[in-house]
Amino acid sequence: MDKIMQSRMDRGFERYQDEYEKKALEVLRSGWYILGKEDEAFEEEFAKYIGTKYSVGLASGLDALWLAFKVLGIGEGDEVIVQGNTYIASVMGITINGATPVIVEPDEYYQIDADKIEEKITDKTKAVLVVHLYGQAANMTKIVDICKRHNLRLVEDCAQSHGACHNGQITGSFGDFGCFSFYPSKNMGAFGDAGAVTTNDPELARLMKIYRNYGSEKRYYNMVVGANSRLDELQAGLLRVKLTHMDEITKEREELAKVYADGINNDLVIKPVVRDGSTSVWHQYVLRVPSKFDENGKLVGENMRDKFKTYLEEKGITTICHYPIPPHRSEAYAYLNLPEGSLPITERYANEVISLPIYTGMYKEEQERVIEAVNSFKG
Ligand SMILES: *Cc1c(COP(=O)(O)O)cnc(C)c1O
Repeated sequence: MDKIMQSRMDRGFERYQDEYEKKALEVLRSGWYILGKEDEAFEEEFAKYIGTKYSVGLASGLDALWLAFKVLGIGEGDEVIVQGNTYIASVMGITINGATPVIVEPDEYYQIDADKIEEKITDKTKAVLVVHLYGQAANMTKIVDICKRHNLRLVEDCAQSHGACHNGQITGSFGDFGCFSFYPSKNMGAFGDAGAVTTNDPELARLMKIYRNYGSEKRYYNMVVGANSRLDELQAGLLRVKLTHMDEITKEREELAKVYADGINNDLVIKPVVRDGSTSVWHQYVLRVPSKFDENGKLVGENMRDKFKTYLEEKGITTICHYPIPPHRSEAYAYLNLPEGSLPITERYANEVISLPIYTGMYKEEQERVIEAVNSFKG
């Protein structure tokens, strides 16, 4: 039997192959390859999709994050609040500028626990970075209110949440900057590296355009030390094609998630839930397989998630853990001095989460095989 991969980017390409190939040829034949009319059109169309006044095309999601903090003037000596269970890029976006990440535990929806933010605010806190993890919009009503009351900047990491909403408002439109990645495996994936920010502030948009291009607005006149983080015309053109299909792409993932929710029926796994008022675009369908832990958060016996992963692998089903090592426990952040046990919920999730296959163009039979395998796991 064919192996079922956790993600299949080829299926996403095949779905709209003719349109992508036509656009690629058009760009290749245009004789213009970086920051041109495709990028301009993309920025306008993407801002419209997110409902912000501006969007600025960049080279990656990580660039979107660190340049957002750079443009906001947040760096050395400043603190930024972020959740513990995220991809390490969120934290690097903060620390590349020299700022300090202050880590908050997640809630049962895997989003930052809004009730634990205020206790972390100090006189050095400058911003909150919200990550809409796995595609679900975080508790934005509370978070926006906290930022307003404490006069904090709000940055959203929307790398996994293209199209997700909270109380009818789309992620990427709540804060000073929405930061997007179009890495190929994301819901709105490009065919190489790409990223963007969204904002309603004309000055922030202007500064972002300066920073992405060597700190220059006028050729050979450099105002600040910037970066080379330009969006190329090929990616911009291909993203314009994908953008016209985002509603279908999201709807398909919602349907796949519903089939999992209805079909998975095994007391050894915990299915994901979506907060009232939020939607998820199901970048990942994440189960939790609890193990036993003692009162200090130390694993007792086998890691059941790892056992479950091996079980599925033997049945030809590939899964991924997002993420097995939380940023505060990675070697890169040893200097934060957050030993094992310092963020027990984050660390427990790292031991328990597992993402099932989900992608554009997933066959019904493939999903049935996954559900059957999940349900037959006996521990
Ligand atoms: C993918 C991802 C990023 C980084 O995006 P790149 O385009 O790979 O730089 C940042 N944050 C989160 C949550 C991500 O999933």
